[in-house]
Amino acid sequence: MSQVHPYRSLNVPRDAPFELKPSPGKGWGAFATRRIVRGAMILKEWPLFIIQKPHEEITEVDVRKCFVQLGPGEKQQFMSIRDNASTTFMLMQHTFAENSFLLTGSPPTHGMFLLHSRFNHSCLPNAKVPEASGETIAIFATRDIVAGEEITFCYNTDFECRTKNERHRALRFVCDCKACLTGTLFQELSDLRRRLLRGLQYLTHGVDLDGKRQGSVSPIIVDTELRQAAENFSIPLSVRLVLWLLSMVLLEEEGLLDYLMIERLNPSILRMAGWFRTESNARVAKQAIAQDTWLGKFGMACRIYGLRDVADHEVAVILRVLQSRG
Ligand SMILES: [Zn+2]
Repeated sequence: MSQVHPYRSLNVPRDAPFELKPSPGKGWGAFATRRIVRGAMILKEWPLFIIQKPHEEITEVDVRKCFVQLGPGEKQQFMSIRDNASTTFMLMQHTFAENSFLLTGSPPTHGMFLLHSRFNHSCLPNAKVPEASGETIAIFATRDIVAGEEITFCYNTDFECRTKNERHRALRFVCDCKACLTGTLFQELSDLRRRLLRGLQYLTHGVDLDGKRQGSVSPIIVDTELRQAAENFSIPLSVRLVLWLLSMVLLEEEGLLDYLMIERLNPSILRMAGWFRTESNARVAKQAIAQDTWLGKFGMACRIYGLRDVADHEVAVILRVLQSRG
């Protein structure tokens, strides 16, 4: 007798544009049941419960305490996740760890989200779960999704700067998305692009992805002079603008430059282009920003690459102050 999979009893909203079903090689996943346009919200979800503690301090007792307070229906939902047939978590703590999301705010708050946890990971996703303020989280389509297509999002926030091997180490499973398929030209280029993006992020932010300066082991920026210029923000404004625009071009090439990322990064680029005080530089920066494509903007900005600007010193001072404030 075939048993009904516990996920079948999860409360997916009736009007949701997706269904849960097996995804070959990945357990279960969420699949679009109709066309979803870029920018559309796919699902907004309230947590089953929250725990206000740093991730590593959450114990079995904490999770059980929350569990006993749930209503019968909610308890059953929690158990559907725990007993999902492919992995049965003996400890509720593990069930929570695998199905919770960090919510913004202080103290650190983790919420158990039954449905969002059903979406699979991709390093080249078609959806995104932006940082959430408040108790709910939501997943948005970052490009048009056709009916029948699996909906995925990226599980980590800095993967655009991580190579395939680094990503797989962090994920603790092997992803088979286009950026991870060994032996393809796209995969080789993807590793190069993401490695370059990590270097560019160091040059523009003066710190690595973890917010720290690089150590002597596997340095990101090998040239000592350049590394120091990055760390004390003395890279000229003209170079800085080109580095930012190059990052945008690489992200676009990789297929990662979605509208949410543009909304997050574009204000900094516009602000920077407005900082030039040497007239000839300011004119080119303005022309660069006016171009239609990222490649066009980058190409135009390259015309002033390396040229000094009257604002250089002031910009370095401002950026140092901003960084010291975190
Ligand atoms: Zn991948």
